[in-house]
Formats: sequence, structure tokens, C-alpha cells
Amino acid sequence: MEGGEKRVYDVIIIGGGPAGLTAGLYTSRSRLKTLLIENGLLGGQMTTTEVIENYPGFPEGVTGDELSRLMEEQAKRFGLEVIPEYVVEVKVEGAKKIVKTEEGSYLSQALIVCTGTEYRKLGVPGEKEFAGKGVSYCATCDGAFFQDNQIVVVGGGDSALTEALYLTKFGKAVTIIHRRDALRGTKIYQERVFTHPKINLLWNSVIQEIKGDSIVKSIVIRNVKTGEVTEHPIDGVFLFVGLSPKTQFLRGLVDMDEEGYIITDGNGQTSVKGIFAAGDCRRKLVRQIATAVGDGATAACSTEKYLELKE
Ligand code: NAP
Repeated sequence: MEGGEKRVYDVIIIGGGPAGLTAGLYTSRSRLKTLLIENGLLGGQMTTTEVIENYPGFPEGVTGDELSRLMEEQAKRFGLEVIPEYVVEVKVEGAKKIVKTEEGSYLSQALIVCTGTEYRKLGVPGEKEFAGKGVSYCATCDGAFFQDNQIVVVGGGDSALTEALYLTKFGKAVTIIHRRDALRGTKIYQERVFTHPKINLLWNSVIQEIKGDSIVKSIVIRNVKTGEVTEHPIDGVFLFVGLSPKTQFLRGLVDMDEEGYIITDGNGQTSVKGIFAAGDCRRKLVRQIATAVGDGATAACSTEKYLELKE
């Protein structure tokens, strides 16, 4: 389709996590011709979450896979079209938005960006070399490879705490290494971590290097208070040191903060008319499934208003 005929939509949604699926549900129910482009699994980061306890409506919790499946089914019920492609560029020509993927180009009147975030890299020697060979960013994907092993989790936020708790199913012991002496994560996860018999905490410490041969064998740790450097044998290291927004393809087009989060107003409107953003890729304080869903609904309603006023 490149250079030739472009398929035309009222709205294109980029990203199929909870924000994108909710936006798609709303725009499809408003009878706007909507295309959702998602190159990974529908559900986004929900698909790599074992149990979700803080999304209302599921008093016993719900698995990430199940919630993803339910949201997908509900959005598609109203005619949402989904394609599995990777977006490389967005161009604006007058009021038209052209979305280029690796496969082709699509045209729309409005765009809702819901691309979310990815796990930030730690940036230490050995991290890249041993990725997939003992270094991981996803406990639900890789945890089972570490049966009865010594596992290390880095970070003190919700991701590190929930993933450490999940990893206790597999590991002989799970050590959380945190650079400070207080955790950042939600109190209920802190309570569970502090009382779990398989979890130890190593405070005021950072990983300096990850070592091994064909797989990870050890980590070099530095105590940031004393400066002491020690080496510890381990089998797996899971890194959860924060998130980076997946917004590179929009650089220079819409306003972003210094970390690349898209700046919007309260209605999800970005600095470019007709381009909205929702969910974790937006600059905001709270990144939860519940807030992503709210963002998706808001951006979809704003999009509908924008298209009505434009005509
Ligand atoms: P986060 O809240 O930004 O936490 C990142 C952690 O990594 C912090 O403890 C930080 O330390 C540490 N860190 C950052 N850079 C580091 C470095 N270079 N070396 C060592 N440690 C480093 O990220 P997150 O845990 O991925 O959570 C992101 C968002 O998703 C949050 O809003 C969170 O609430 C949400 N989330 C929610 C749930 C849930 O509700 N179940 C689950 C997962 C994520 P400092 O504390 O010293 O800054």
C-alpha cells in the first residue's frame, strides 16, 4: 500500500493495552470507523501480569490474560478493526493524519496514541549480553526457567515488589536489591514482601556488573553508603527500574516532557489538533489499569467531539 492507496478511517488508535482497547470500545460504539494498530499482544502489559487485584469489578482478582481477553472481546463486539503492525511514523497533512507502519500507510481524521511504556534498562555491563540468558524484564514470561534457583530482583517500585512476590513460586530465594533504604511500592505489596519467608531485601545497593559465561553466573554489587563491592553467585536477575514511554516515532511532532511522555490537557488533547494520547504514554502521576481505562474513555469522547466540530 506504500505510496499508493491508503485505507481511510475516522480514528486510528495506536496501541492495544487497556487505554487503547477502551478508546476502541468507545469510538466503535459511537459508530466511528476505527482501526487499532498493535504489534504485540492485545492487553499490553496486562498480558505479563499474573493477577490483577486493583481493577474494580473482580473481588477475587483477575488474571492479566483474562482481563485482556475480556477487554478485547468487548471492544471487537462493536466493530473495532485490529491489525498487528508496527508503527514507524506519523505525519500530519492539514487535518489528515497519516500513520505509516512497516507494512503500509493508513489515513485518518483523528489519532489516539496509547502506546504505553516499556521497562527501562539498567545500563550496566553484562545486561545486554545476558538478556534472555539470565537477565529478564518479565517474571511471568521467564520465571518458570528459574525453578529452585537464586533469583535477584532490582528496584523498589510496584513492578519490582509484585514480580518478586510472583517469583517466589519458582525460586529457592528471591533477593530484592534496592538503591535506597525505603521502598517506593504500594504499602500492601511492601507488607507482603517484608513477611514473605523466601524474600530478602538488600538495601542501599546497586548492581555494578552482571557476569557469566553462556548464562548469568554472578552479580557485582556496590553498597552506595559504604562503597563496598562484593560478588554474589546467582542464576537470574529481573530488572524493574522504571519505565520509558514508547513514543519515539512521535518525536518532534507532539510536545513531550524530557523523558518522552506526551503532554496533554485533561481531555487527552496533545499539542497537535486531532491527536490525542491516553494511558501510560501520557505525562501524569498515576499509571494503573484503572487510570488507563479512564484515559481511553476520555480521549475517545474528546475525539468524537473534535470530529463533530470539524465537520
Ligand atoms: P517506578 O515506580 O518508577 O519504580 C522504579 C524503581 O526502580 C524505584 O524504586 C527506583 O528507585 C528504582 N530505580 C530506578 N532507576 C534505578 C537505577 N538506575 N538503579 C537502581 N534502581 C533504580 O517503576 P515501576 O515499579 O515499574 O512502576 C511504574 C508505574 O506502574 C507506577 O506508577 C506503578 O504504581 C505502576 N505499577 C502498578 C502495579 C500495581 O498496581 N499492581 C504494578 C506494576 C506497576 P527509587 O525508589 O530510589 O527512585
